[in-house]
Amino acid sequence: MNTFNRQEFASDNYAGTCPEALHWFLEANASGHEPAYGDDRWTQRSTDMLRKLFDIECDVYFVFNGTAANSLALASLCQSYHSVICTPVAHIETDECGGPEFFSNGSKLLVAENTSDAARLGKLTPDAVHTLVTKRTDIHYPRPKVVSITQATEMGTVYSVDEVSAISQMARKHQLKVHMDGARFANAVAHLGCSPADVTWRAGVDVLCFGGTKNGLPIGEAVVFFDRQLSEDFAWRVKQAGQLASKMRFISAPWVGLLENDVWLHNARHANAMAQRLHQGLCQLPGVMCIHTPEANGVFAQLPAKTVDAMQARGWKFYQFIAGGGCRFMCAWDTTEASVDAFLADMHTELAR
Ligand SMILES: *Cc1c(COP(=O)(O)O)cnc(C)c1O
Repeated sequence: MNTFNRQEFASDNYAGTCPEALHWFLEANASGHEPAYGDDRWTQRSTDMLRKLFDIECDVYFVFNGTAANSLALASLCQSYHSVICTPVAHIETDECGGPEFFSNGSKLLVAENTSDAARLGKLTPDAVHTLVTKRTDIHYPRPKVVSITQATEMGTVYSVDEVSAISQMARKHQLKVHMDGARFANAVAHLGCSPADVTWRAGVDVLCFGGTKNGLPIGEAVVFFDRQLSEDFAWRVKQAGQLASKMRFISAPWVGLLENDVWLHNARHANAMAQRLHQGLCQLPGVMCIHTPEANGVFAQLPAKTVDAMQARGWKFYQFIAGGGCRFMCAWDTTEASVDAFLADMHTELAR
């Protein structure tokens, strides 16, 4: 039985695996027996490709998902009495079930104020970092150690290279490390049109969690340490956390498919373009209030409550938990123009009722 489900806008992880990733998954299988736990040639190859992409001899580790990538990366930067500065909408704060705190044995997340224009766009600012670091310096307060930013943000916006640099400079000033949750890093780079190095280590980022899943992999994220001193013992951390795949090649080989011929960038550009199409269509519909212009692959808009219900009754899946009743629509690497247009047509019908 092969029932084709229609495309949804709930999350970019609803999509399947892109053909290039699947090709290398099958190649890795066709090679027969291979050394386990990452000592295979696919892991070596994708690691080398990531080093080339970032133009630096970084340390790379592959894990199953973003929660593990973020949690373990942060744990490697913190002692239990440290804290991590992030926004109120940060995935590490709202959607990882306390994973960062758990894996760091208690490091606390310090959430920035949600009052500035930047905060409405899901962004942290150097000022917000400064305020949190200087608010308390006494022994009774967990000591700030890391700044974590999400690129692209949970609100579908993208930090410019200058914005990342400014945050990193403030972090350095206070002896903090910089972590980037890049679950949608590809979409951010596609928007910026810069090199991946420019918006990461050259802008002061120490560790990047580079998302593969939402970009077209079946599974897997890469934790990329630009400061190799910080990855000391990381391999043991990954193993202890149950994140060391024994058949590692099935996580790492699909990365070859993403990295070869810039498929990661093409996938991201396509998803971003579909978000623009959806945004433009939504903005033209009476009764829809677009919250802000998307920069990555997520669209945010406010719809009348009855339209939300009607669209969901029609079977469309999307989230509506962000930004005070706003709805979120995510586009994926395989979202088609026809799917966007079908969604818009149903919206048009329901709004006219
Ligand atoms: C999807 C996502 C992750 C990873 O989530 P997992 O479900 O653990 O893979 C991390 N950060 C952000 C911002 C995300 O959107």
